[in-house]
Amino acid sequence: NEEMIHCIGCGALIQTENPTELGYTPLSALEKGLETGEVYCQRCFRLRHYNEIQDVSLTDDDFLRLLNELGQKDALIVNVVDIFDFNGSLIPGLHRFVGDNPVLLVGNKVDILPKSLKKSKMTQWMRERAHEAGLRPIDVLLTSAKKAAEMTELLQAIDHYREGRDVYVVGVTNVGKSTLINQIIKQTAGVQELITTSRFPGTTLDKIEIPLDDGHFLIDTPGIIHRHQMAHYLGKKDLKIVAPNKEIKPKSYQLNAGQTLFFGGVARFDFIQGERSSFIAYVANDVVLHRTKLEKADAFYQKHVGGLLQPPRPDELADFPELVRFEFSIKEKTDIVFAGLGWITVTKPGVVAGWAPKGVDVIKRKALI
Ligand code: GDP
Repeated sequence: NEEMIHCIGCGALIQTENPTELGYTPLSALEKGLETGEVYCQRCFRLRHYNEIQDVSLTDDDFLRLLNELGQKDALIVNVVDIFDFNGSLIPGLHRFVGDNPVLLVGNKVDILPKSLKKSKMTQWMRERAHEAGLRPIDVLLTSAKKAAEMTELLQAIDHYREGRDVYVVGVTNVGKSTLINQIIKQTAGVQELITTSRFPGTTLDKIEIPLDDGHFLIDTPGIIHRHQMAHYLGKKDLKIVAPNKEIKPKSYQLNAGQTLFFGGVARFDFIQGERSSFIAYVANDVVLHRTKLEKADAFYQKHVGGLLQPPRPDELADFPELVRFEFSIKEKTDIVFAGLGWITVTKPGVVAGWAPKGVDVIKRKALI
C-alpha cells in the first residue's frame, strides 16, 4: 500500500519498519486500524491506553528544527543528561539554540554512581563541563528517574525556575528522559489526559504535553540518537550486563607499564608507559575484568573473545565490531571514558590506550572522582 497514512493522534507518517522512529506501528495494528478507520502510531496508542510515553528519535535535521523552535519560545528548558555518559549526552550547540531561555541541567542515573562521590562535587563537575561546552545552566541537579522519591526536588526546581512558563524537556536518547517523564506523569497528571501535539504541520516534530496546574505545559520532545554509544553495538542481553543499572563498585588495580585490562570482550585498556600506579575501573559490576600482558593481548583477545571474554556472547560474535584503538598521553589525574560502558581513572602521568568496538567513542576527560 503506497498511500500515505498519518497517525490520527500526532500526525506522524505511519511506518512499520523502524520501531524507534516516529510513526511506527506494528503491521498487525496497522491492519486493524485500517479496518476501523483509526490508525494510531504505537507511541500515541501507548499514551492513550497506558498514559505512558515512549521515546522516539529524530533525524539530525528534524532535531535541529526542534532546537531552533526552542529559541522562539518563552520557556524553561530542562536538559536531561546521563551522568554516566556525560559527554555522550550533551547536545552540541544547545546554548546557541535556546536563546535567552534558562536551561536547567539535570544529571540522571545518580543511583549508579558510587555513594562515596559527593553530590556537590558531581554538580560542580557538571557545571564546569557545561561551561566548557558553552552552556550556562541556571542550576544543576541530580536525579534518578527510576526512583519516585527523587522527583520531588526536581519538580520543585522546575516549578521555581519556570516562573509561570511552559517547560521543554530535551535530551539525547538513552539518557532516561522517557523514564523521567513517566515518573513525572505519575506524580502530576494522574488520570488527566495527556496530549500529543503536532502544532507545526508539515514537520514531524511531535511532542507530548503534560498539563501543569496553571494552564501551562511540560512538553516532552523527541531525542536524537548518539551513535557513538555502546548501546548501538550490543544485543539486548549483552547490554543488560554492560549498561550499569545499580551502584557501581569501583575496582582498583595496581598496574605496571606493559599490562592490559580487558572489560569482558567489549573494551580494552593498555598501560603503555609510566610508573607503576593505580587504575580504578568504574563499570557495571557484572562486567568481568581480565588482566594480561600487553604484548600478548592481541592474541589473547583473538582466542578468547566470546568465550572467556564476554560479552559479546558466542552467538553475537559474528555481528560484533572489531575493537579500535585510541592512544592518550596523560598529564594529570584523568578518566578514559568508553561511551556508555564506563571509565577508568588514570592517577599518574603516562601513556595509555583505550579500545572500544568500532563506532564507539573513547575520550579522555578530567577525572570525575
Ligand atoms: P530515553 O531514550 O532518554 O527516553 O531513555 P529511557 O527512559 O528509555 O532509558 C534508557 C535506559 O536507562 C533504560 O534502560 C532505563 O531503564 C535506564 N534508566 C533510566 N533512568 C534511570 C535511572 O535513573 N537510573 C538507572 N540506573 N537507569 C535508568
